[in-house]
Amino acid sequence: MKLNEILQKKEVTLSFEVFPPKVTADYETVQKAAYGVAKLKPSYMSVTYGAGGSTRGNTLKLAKGIQEEYGVTTIAHLTCVGATKEKIQESLEELRAAGIENVLALRGDRPKDFEGEPFIDYHYASELAADIRAFGGMCIGGACYPEGHVESENSQEDILNLKKKVEAGCEYLTTQMFFDNNIFYNFLCRVREAGIDVPVIPGIMPITRPSQLRSAVRLSGCNVPMRFRSIVDCFGNNPEAMQQAGIIYATDQIIDLIANGIKHVHVYSMNKPEVVRGIQESLSKII
Ligand code: FAD
Repeated sequence: MKLNEILQKKEVTLSFEVFPPKVTADYETVQKAAYGVAKLKPSYMSVTYGAGGSTRGNTLKLAKGIQEEYGVTTIAHLTCVGATKEKIQESLEELRAAGIENVLALRGDRPKDFEGEPFIDYHYASELAADIRAFGGMCIGGACYPEGHVESENSQEDILNLKKKVEAGCEYLTTQMFFDNNIFYNFLCRVREAGIDVPVIPGIMPITRPSQLRSAVRLSGCNVPMRFRSIVDCFGNNPEAMQQAGIIYATDQIIDLIANGIKHVHVYSMNKPEVVRGIQESLSKII
């Protein structure tokens, strides 16, 4: 099913992101964890794409497996950094043949070991979205950044670029993680003011380890409110307590989003069924 059909329904949706293995040797283990997430029957799932296409075959295999084994609609992420137009066409043909109808069009970041110029055929995700639209038959999504993309000069520019991405074909947007819902509400106002009217789906990351928070902050520069910082400082050395606190904090964010009229929430599961199950169970009378 195409994601725009799911998003048009009246019900609130709770969806989960999983990642494929970096190396095929780990496939069985990672598949088991991702299938554990699929068993929870989220509204849909997304499968990430390794830097520069390093997980290409595994993204496809996992997305196809989830759809076929569990009947959960999947979105395959696809990046264009370092890719040629021919490679992208090939990937799209493979996705179509596998029955995947949803793609998250991303630029991606220069892979660590990449030599040479990584942006030749594509410079921005909007160019990839335009090619996917021309290919046809896919519901296309894009990424967005409530606190601004790390490379952006300013948030105004970032939103203007986001508008180009939507005009190029993105039918919905999923946000980077944030830990303060007010940042999301403020961003949503600015997005709507700019005339972007596609669904904007908040991405929520349940933090279950202090190191996870440190790397999230390092990679995305996201703000950590004092309230959450204190939680991590207090429970960070006790793994079970930290996991419980992380589930509760993420659930609290989701309840606030739903209470403020947001209908669709995407959770970064980090391939941890027990974490997303905890969130799902805490919302059992709400969703
Ligand atoms: P773009 O939309 O191209 O934006 C990149 C930068 O270029 C921004 O600063 C933007 O303002 C600027 N820009 C855009 N268009 C123009 C223009 N026309 N002129 C000038 N500047 C412009 N990475 C992966 O490798 N694999 C994944 O599976 C993955 N999944 C993700 C899922 C989500 C929900 C999010 C939020 C991010 C994900 N990423 C993933 C990370 C993403 O690849 C990086 O954040 C990357 O740096 C930017 O990708 P983008 O698609 O947002 O790029």
